[in-house]
Amino acid sequence: EDEKRKYVKGKKLGEGTYANVYLGFLRSDPSQLVAIKKIKIQKEYTEGMAPDAVREIKHLQELSHPNIITMHSVFSSKDQNLNLVLEYLPLGDLEMLIHDTEHIRYGAADIKAWMGMLTRAIWFCHQNFVLHRDIKPNNLLIAADGEVKLADFGLARSFSDPYRPMTSNVITRWYRPPELLFGAQHYSGAVDIWSVGLVLAELVIRTPYIAGNSEIHQIQLICQAVGTPTEENWPGVTKLPDYTVDKEVIPLRGRDHYMTLFGTLGAEGVDLLMKTLSLDPKKRITAHEMLKHDWWHKDPRPTRKQDLPKKS
Ligand code: ADP
Repeated sequence: EDEKRKYVKGKKLGEGTYANVYLGFLRSDPSQLVAIKKIKIQKEYTEGMAPDAVREIKHLQELSHPNIITMHSVFSSKDQNLNLVLEYLPLGDLEMLIHDTEHIRYGAADIKAWMGMLTRAIWFCHQNFVLHRDIKPNNLLIAADGEVKLADFGLARSFSDPYRPMTSNVITRWYRPPELLFGAQHYSGAVDIWSVGLVLAELVIRTPYIAGNSEIHQIQLICQAVGTPTEENWPGVTKLPDYTVDKEVIPLRGRDHYMTLFGTLGAEGVDLLMKTLSLDPKKRITAHEMLKHDWWHKDPRPTRKQDLPKKS
C-alpha cells in the first residue's frame, strides 16, 4: 500500500497482450517519470495468471544490469491487479527501428553494438539462472542514452532445477527454437540463444528471418533456412514428443549460404550467427561463448551507444 502511494498514475501509454501500460511519476518528485505496467488478471484465470506475474516481478527485481529494464517497485491494486513500476523508456524498441526502413539507416557497427548489449543481458540472465524465453526485437527497448534494455520477463523463470518439466508453449513463434517446437520439456538457456540469433538475422535483412504462420509451418521454414533436424545432426531429436518433419531431408546449410544472405556481418559475424542457429541445443553456442567470439574485435568496432540511430 505504501509502495502504491509513492507513485501517481497518468495517461495510458499502450496495451500489450497481458498488460496495460501507464505513464506515472514519483509523488515526491514529479520530474521522475516511470512506466506502470498493470497486469490483467481475469477472475477465472487468476490461478493461472498470478504465477506468471509473480515470476515477472521476482526476476526483474533480482536482475540489476545496464541492459535489463529496471523495476522500481511492485504493488497490487484494490482490484487484485499487479502493478509493476518500471523504468520509463519512451524511445520505442528495436522492432520499430528495424522495420522503419524509410527513416532509419544503420550498418554493421550499429548491429554489433546492439547485439553486444543483448548478449550481455542474456549472459547476465543465464548467469543468474533465469531464462528470458521471449526474446524478440519488440522486447528490446531503447533508452535515451542509446542503451538497449531487455524487457518483458512475463515468461521468464528459473531453470536452476533441470528436472522440473517446463511448458514448451513459450516464446513468440517466429523466435521459437526447434526443441520447443518439438515439445521438449527439459530445455536450457539455449532457447534464448536461438532467439538472439534470429534477432541478429533480422537486424541484417530487416524482416523476420523465419516467420511461420503456424507451428508446423515454422518447423518447415526452419528446415529450409537451416536444414532438417535428424538423428545425425541432433542425436535424440526423433524421440521428442512432437517431432515431425517432411520426408525429404534438407541438408544443413553451409557457410556460403549464410554469407550470401548475411555477408554484411563479415565472415566472423556469419560464423557467430551460424553457431546461434545450431539445431541441436547442446551444440548451440552459449551466451558466455558468444561474448568470447572474435567478431566483437573485428572491424568495424561497435558504435558507441550515444551515436546509435534512434527514433527522432
Ligand atoms: P507488448 O510486449 O505486448 O508490446 P507491453 O505490455 O510490454 O506489450 O507494452 C505495451 C506498450 O506500452 C508498448 O508497446 C509501449 O508502447 C508501452 N510501454 C511498455 N513498457 C514501457 C516502458 N517501460 N516505458 C514506456 N513505454 C512502455
